[in-house]
Amino acid sequence: MAYKIDPQKCIGCHTCMGACPVGAISVGADGKCVIDPSKCVSCGTCAAVCPVNAIAAAAK
Ligand code: SF4
Ligand code: SF4
Repeated sequence: MAYKIDPQKCIGCHTCMGACPVGAISVGADGKCVIDPSKCVSCGTCAAVCPVNAIAAAAK
């Protein structure tokens, strides 16, 4: 289980990237953030700080 960013909702503020304790979030080519599922420990911090609720727990 990992968290996932919805690119349709993400506004590219990068707040989540600074909040992730394991550095699982990076900026994609479109300027929006993406989560590396192999690094994500599902702590939920990014989802809590995202101003537009673009992050949610994904099924896998
Ligand atoms: S759930 Fe936690 S570990 Fe996973 S990307 Fe978000 S802040 Fe990082
Ligand atoms: S905090 Fe939310 S809106 Fe900002 S970059 Fe992360 S996912 Fe996108």
